[in-house]
Amino acid sequence: MNTDSCIVIVGAGLAGAEAAFALRDGGYEGRIVMIGREAWPPYERPPLSKAFLKGELARDRLWLRPAKSYADENIELHLGTEVTAIDRAQRCVHLDTGAVLGYDKLLLATGGEARLLTIPGAELDGVCELKSLDDADRLRAGLVEGRSVVIIGGGYVGMEFAATACQAGCAVTVLESQSRVLSRSLSVVVSWYLQSEHERRGVRVLTQSSVVHIEGDECVNAVVLSDGTRLPADLVLVSIGNEASDALARGGSLPVNRGIVVDREGHTTDPHVFAAGDCTVSRYEGFDAPLRLESVQHATLQARRAAAAMLGQPTGRDEVPWFWSDQFDIKLQMAGLSLPGDTELVRGDPCSGRFSVIYQNANRLTAIQCVNASADFAAAKKMIAERRRFAPALLCDPLVSLRDVRLSRMVDEPIR
Ligand SMILES: Cc1cc2nc3c(=O)[nH]c(=O)nc-3n(C[C@H](O)[C@H](O)[C@H](O)COP(=O)(O)OP(=O)(O)OC[C@H]3O[C@@H](n4cnc5c(N)ncnc54)[C@H](O)[C@@H]3O)c2cc1C
Repeated sequence: MNTDSCIVIVGAGLAGAEAAFALRDGGYEGRIVMIGREAWPPYERPPLSKAFLKGELARDRLWLRPAKSYADENIELHLGTEVTAIDRAQRCVHLDTGAVLGYDKLLLATGGEARLLTIPGAELDGVCELKSLDDADRLRAGLVEGRSVVIIGGGYVGMEFAATACQAGCAVTVLESQSRVLSRSLSVVVSWYLQSEHERRGVRVLTQSSVVHIEGDECVNAVVLSDGTRLPADLVLVSIGNEASDALARGGSLPVNRGIVVDREGHTTDPHVFAAGDCTVSRYEGFDAPLRLESVQHATLQARRAAAAMLGQPTGRDEVPWFWSDQFDIKLQMAGLSLPGDTELVRGDPCSGRFSVIYQNANRLTAIQCVNASADFAAAKKMIAERRRFAPALLCDPLVSLRDVRLSRMVDEPIR
């Protein structure tokens, strides 16, 4: 690409910023224009439900890069600006300012949007979501000791927020429609452990509950369930998952399947258009449908790969997907992707507050969920990537570290 060329990045979040700097690191000398709807420069979202919400992390520690690094790398950052449409035939994007901007390559890094709750009262003041820094500011102001907080949705953000609200001295209730929290992504053992730890610290968790409406005049004052239960509420967090922000791709007739369909390098079906991060779905071995992974690691990796692919450079090796969550003093770390036929093994004693759930198939580790067990996590990530076989009895023996299991030739035994 020559120095007159222009790469436009839609979305000034993690994937957008990673891609912009990776393009410069890769030697790209043309124009890079990053357009972001939010008023803030690219920032880290994980602390929004953790340290930032607790007031333990200052706002200026959220920025992914110092403000001056964009100018230093000649990355044009247009904040508070939305891309409203893409025109693939003309290779340009339309902005809400009325401006039209041409591109040689386009990266869609638009992330996801909080799924909306469509019940009466969902629009009342005090009913919030937690996706952005502005949302976190609003919620932080509402976390006042003695207040009643109701969280609709026992997913990661909901459970992290519950922990933070409980630590702030609020009376917290989590409403989950399934029979257990985090049922879509965690084993029964880990999800029950988390629920019981929340309950032990005073969080009330109501599973199989269905919210029918939210009461209040202007401000929320209660959440009503289908069985008639009325829960007083000063603050409500709606945290029922995210949907990919794929409207631009849909409008531009690019393939979309609950996310922008991309390959490993972030290519769409248009050689000039790439996508990365939470807005994408891609194929993974063993899965029939494309998957949408929402994590820091995935967005970072995919953005770097898309940048390399735009420059025609090697895109690096595959990495095992991983994710983390912090709730109270519990560190949850997960790696790999488990499939329905996998066997679950528990390593360590959940009562000790430190254990892992290992998924294996034909004696190969496919995934792990670790509770306060960072050493298991670090070793298992490598074991999953190496796809070697290990004797299940050794994987479950808490007296032998997974690191030793991995390094010891003795245990890499032939499987009968
Ligand atoms: C509260 C919270 C806690 C989290 N905790 C963890 C965690 O513990 N561990 C972990 O691995 N992950 C965590 N995540 C997920 C992680 O932050 C995301 O996976 C990551 O931010 C995805 O990066 P992204 O660039 O794809 O999307 P985003 O970071 O969402 O950025 C997308 C940006 O694009 C902008 N945009 C969208 N459409 C347009 C448009 N048309 N024009 C202009 N701009 C547009 C959006 O406003 C947004 O700023 C958390 C997320 C949240 C919200």
